[in-house]
Amino acid sequence: MSGTPSTATALGLILCHDCKRLNDARNLKAHGLCCRCGSRLHARKPESLARTWALTLTACLLYVPANVLPVMTVLMTGRSEADTILSGVKALLIGGMWPLALLVFFASITVPVLKLLVLIFLLLSVQMKSHWRPRERTALYRLTETIGRWSMIDIFVIAILVALVQVGALASITAGPGAVAFGGVVVSTMLAAISFDPRLIWDAMETPHEVD
Ligand SMILES: [Zn+2]
Repeated sequence: MSGTPSTATALGLILCHDCKRLNDARNLKAHGLCCRCGSRLHARKPESLARTWALTLTACLLYVPANVLPVMTVLMTGRSEADTILSGVKALLIGGMWPLALLVFFASITVPVLKLLVLIFLLLSVQMKSHWRPRERTALYRLTETIGRWSMIDIFVIAILVALVQVGALASITAGPGAVAFGGVVVSTMLAAISFDPRLIWDAMETPHEVD
């Protein structure tokens, strides 16, 4: 790395989030609005770290009931059977539907855990003003944000499961409390990823650091 790259802030410029115009930072002091479209200007997402931490911890807490409580109850010939995410995956494996079992496992367990771990890692690295591989960390953030869309896989998975149950002529299938908690995990992780400001990674590069 040859020298630290300049940031817009260091050059006295602020990017408008809505129309992407670069504004003179003095505008911010004068009226705080974009000189072209009139949107409110802020150099960084407000309270980014606190918001991202709060949403990430909420997601972590909800992850417990999402996996312990049943996500669905299948009523079959008068007997009801409650399934958690893991027991559902196991039932699919036993039923020989391993591609679907893999899909549910990947979308419901692997992806949310990885996203939360990445967010915690990014938050800690920004707080410690780390100089370690800012480019790679930015790429990691972009990946996490992109993968958020793949959490929608779950909705398709549930649709497929409902279809399979109907083909099997089972009486009824209802969502359990675990499904609500799981929805909470997906939404709060998505919001956490949105509220994280990756520019904070580069702000840390501006401060001197003894270890590189
Ligand atoms: Zn603007």
